[in-house]
Amino acid sequence: MVKVFIDAGHGGSDPGAVGNGLKEKDITLKIAKRVDELLKEYQNVQTKMSRTGDTYPSLTDRTNEANNWGANFLLSIHINAGGGNGYEDYVYPDSTNSIAYQNIIHAEIIKKIGQMGNRGKKQANYHMLRESNMPSILTECGFIDNSSDAALLKQDAFIEGLAQGHVNGLVKSFGLIKKEVGGVTEEKIVLTPGQKNAFDKLVKHGLMAADYEVKDSVDIRLITMLAPLLTKLETKGSL
Ligand SMILES: [Zn+2]
Repeated sequence: MVKVFIDAGHGGSDPGAVGNGLKEKDITLKIAKRVDELLKEYQNVQTKMSRTGDTYPSLTDRTNEANNWGANFLLSIHINAGGGNGYEDYVYPDSTNSIAYQNIIHAEIIKKIGQMGNRGKKQANYHMLRESNMPSILTECGFIDNSSDAALLKQDAFIEGLAQGHVNGLVKSFGLIKKEVGGVTEEKIVLTPGQKNAFDKLVKHGLMAADYEVKDSVDIRLITMLAPLLTKLETKGSL
């Protein structure tokens, strides 16, 4: 089980950076919530968020919570300001473990945010990175005071890409596998002619609704086991 602590930067009384009609605290929460939702589509991963609404846990509250929970990884999401443009991320200086994750996560995020510039992989002595006991990364997802970055941050599709990039990085880092049932990417099963014949036989005898949607290999196994039995009973004249 991999435990990922997701920190939406700032919140409540602390808006973080502001600019172009945007507040950092709102965007970080949007991205963090989506990262949380997307990660839940994977097996063997648990998530905890530092905040789920417009509140301000202190930086110490946040790292204490991650440490006490025994997180395996901490992700802190921020938006930049102060003149510049593009995406960058930070790990604690010379932290070999965190640098390995940064290499993977940075590459995956960059793949998803083509329109935004890449300022590279950096290191800094930030509280969230220094006081967390597990490998960690802090992402700065564009400059709120830059009009073209802000225009991107106002688009839902761009926020979704940012969230997916973060998740793809974590998936690759921890070798996460998608849950088999549920989730939007589930493929509709197409029956082979033999399986279709078996399905029709079950429908004919009222064991299955004609509009039943075959979901998985368990369904198929059941259909292909029951159909020959029905054939046998038909032959014996029992049906
Ligand atoms: Zn920030």
